[in-house]
Parts: sequence; C-alpha cells; structure tokens
Amino acid sequence: MAATSPPGTGLLKGLGVTIKHLFQRPATLMYPYERNELAPRTRGVIALMDENCTVCMLCSRECPDWCIYIESHKETVPPAKEGGRARTRNVLDRFAIDFSLCMYCGICVEVCPFDALWWSPEFEYSEYSIDSLLHEKEKLRAWADTVPAPPPLDDGAVLPAEVADAIEKAEKERELAEAKAAEEAQAKESGAAGGAATPAAAAKEPEVEVKAGEIDQETFDQLIAEGKSERIARSKAKAAWVKKEKARLKAEAEQGGGDAAAPAAAPKPAEVHVEAGQIDQETYDQLIAEGKTERMARAKAKAAYVKKEKARLRAEAEQAAPSGESAAPEAEAPAKKQLSEVHVEGTGEIDQEVFDQLIAEGKSERIARSKAKAAWIKKRKQEQLDQEGGA
Ligand code: SF4
Ligand code: SF4
Repeated sequence: MAATSPPGTGLLKGLGVTIKHLFQRPATLMYPYERNELAPRTRGVIALMDENCTVCMLCSRECPDWCIYIESHKETVPPAKEGGRARTRNVLDRFAIDFSLCMYCGICVEVCPFDALWWSPEFEYSEYSIDSLLHEKEKLRAWADTVPAPPPLDDGAVLPAEVADAIEKAEKERELAEAKAAEEAQAKESGAAGGAATPAAAAKEPEVEVKAGEIDQETFDQLIAEGKSERIARSKAKAAWVKKEKARLKAEAEQGGGDAAAPAAAPKPAEVHVEAGQIDQETYDQLIAEGKTERMARAKAKAAYVKKEKARLRAEAEQAAPSGESAAPEAEAPAKKQLSEVHVEGTGEIDQEVFDQLIAEGKSERIARSKAKAAWIKKRKQEQLDQEGGA
C-alpha cells in the first residue's frame, strides 16, 4: 500500500508557489498603459506598396485562405522610343486583404516577386464589426509607412543589382555634371582672357544636340570588348560623341573666325538623323552570319548606317557646292528613299524558305532563324518601298 502524504501538504505546496510569485515581476503587462518591445520583424499587419504591384496574382493564388482580392484592367502604353512597339500593362484597381480570414502565414509576402507586400509590426487594428477587417488598397498602402527599414547588409555582401545600378547611375551623372561645370568654367576663363576683341559667340561652348542613336562607335566597341554592359557602353559612347562633336564645332568656329559663309556651306555629319530601326541591313546580315548577337549586330549596323548616310550627305553637298544651288539636293532627297530608311515592325515572323535552306546547309537553328527573320524584314521593306514608289 502506497504511503500517503500527511493532511495539509498540498495546501502548503500551493501557498509556497503563491508566496514565491508574490515577490517576482509579473509576466504580463498592463496593456495599453504598458507596451512590450516587439521583435523588428513582428507579423502585425500586411502592408501593400501598390506602385510595385504588377498584378501578377501570385499572392492571391498562393493564399491558403483565399482572402486576397485583386481587380485590374489593361492599359496600352505608348512606345518609349519613336518607332517602337506599344505595350499593354496591368493597372491595379482593387487590392484587398480580409484580415478576418487571414491566418498570418506570410506566404503572400514570401511569394511576391516584386516586393509589393511587407510585414508591418502594427497590430492595433481590432474592430467591433468583422466587416471592417477587410482592408482595401488605400488602407494597406497606409500600413506601408509603418514598415521598418530592412536590416543593413553584412560586411562585404554583394549589393543588389538595382542598388548597384542606381549608385553607378548617380556616379555617372555626378561625373558628367563635374565635367560640364569644368568646361563652362574653362570657357568663361578663355572668354575673359580674349578680351573685347573676341565676340561672345566665339567664347561660348557650342551647343550639341544629341539625337537618338548618336554614339562614338569606337568607344562603344572598345567598352563592349572590355566586357562592359551595353547600357554603360552606350551611355559612355554617347558622352564621348558629345565631347568630340563639341571639340569639332569649336575648332570649326575658331578656324572660320571672320568667314561666316564657309561653315554654313560645309556639310555637317552631325546633321544625320537616325530614326529608330534604321540600320544598314547588309552589315546586320553579315554580322549575324558571323555569329554575333542580334543586339551587337543591330548596334554596329546602326553605326554603319550613320556612317554611310554622312558620307552620302557630304558627297551631295560637295557636288552641289560649285553650282551654288544648295536647295536642289534637299528637294530631291525624299525621292531617293533607301531600303534602310523604311521601317518595318518585326513581330517574329521568318522567311520560311531562307530558314529551310539554311537548315539544309547545316547552319544552326539560331543562325538560320535570325537570318530568316532578317530576310523577312528585308522583303517587307522592299514591298513597302515598291508600294510607295508606285503610289
Ligand atoms: S498571410 Fe497567409 S493567409 Fe494571410 S493573406 Fe497572406 S497568404 Fe493569405
Ligand atoms: S504577388 Fe506581388 S506583384 Fe503579384 S499581385 Fe501580389 S502583390 Fe502584386
């Protein structure tokens, strides 16, 4: 038979626990008069940064409680560049989360590929009515202001690509601004040193208008060969082109000092205006055949087109110079429309004949497809040119 405890032992044990906790700090807080220090990533409420949302619907599809409601419509966006293709994009009309259903699993925040959803530590949004727990877009956007800043990166961590890009861009803009300020200061100094004999126009930095596609091809090729990204190479090559043009115009202004008629008659290569999509098709085809990427081939073909156009304009101006009639070539110019001047919107179609032939010749599918695409565009251009000629 088991030994029994003397009567009153349980009571004494209970009193012992009571007395022990009487002199300890309570585990609870007198909320709302006292507030606990929350962990930085507390899951209080979900905030929406609607400017990041692309209406991909991933969050809504993945939510196990089906408590995210999204409504949107499509909108046509005009092309960023002249001659480009118009695009459609989703516009967010409604985004709502029903917090009476949400179980705070965080799946929606995890799956959002565009960082549009964030956890906010705010938790004081209780309501008397359950309907009021349906938070619409505006309310979810307001929670975004309470989202704490992300923790700093570890020492030596690689910066995210978009941050690195932004820093690089800011750095480049700063360099350009500094270079511009230095040039202006230099121009002012040289103007002051020249005194009254030099007119204001001679001291002033020539204005260079940069049109789309005008870059210094040498610089561009060199940077691409050095492994720089096309965006950086293009931007640097543009800056190099502006610099060269300024130097050239300045030299021309200095040489042609008193003779005002000479610069006006001389053809300026910078006057060639390249429309989007204007490339030298021959160069393009050749580069594609050599296995160059389409992007590289297009850039080089564009440069080749500019070069040819400049040479053509210069030759025309030189021919017209002895007769003194400068208006005639300009009047004839529109009639001499070239194949490369015709713009055709490529939508991925290929010339099947050319494709089959190249495949039969043992070319890779990539090369054959690319050439067949070029052939299709060439045909369409020729057709368009014939139609315009016949009209
Ligand atoms: S936290 Fe979970 S339950 Fe709540 S909305 Fe996001 S996915 Fe749905
Ligand atoms: S996953 Fe992100 S981007 Fe996609 S709909 Fe949801 S909030 Fe918007």
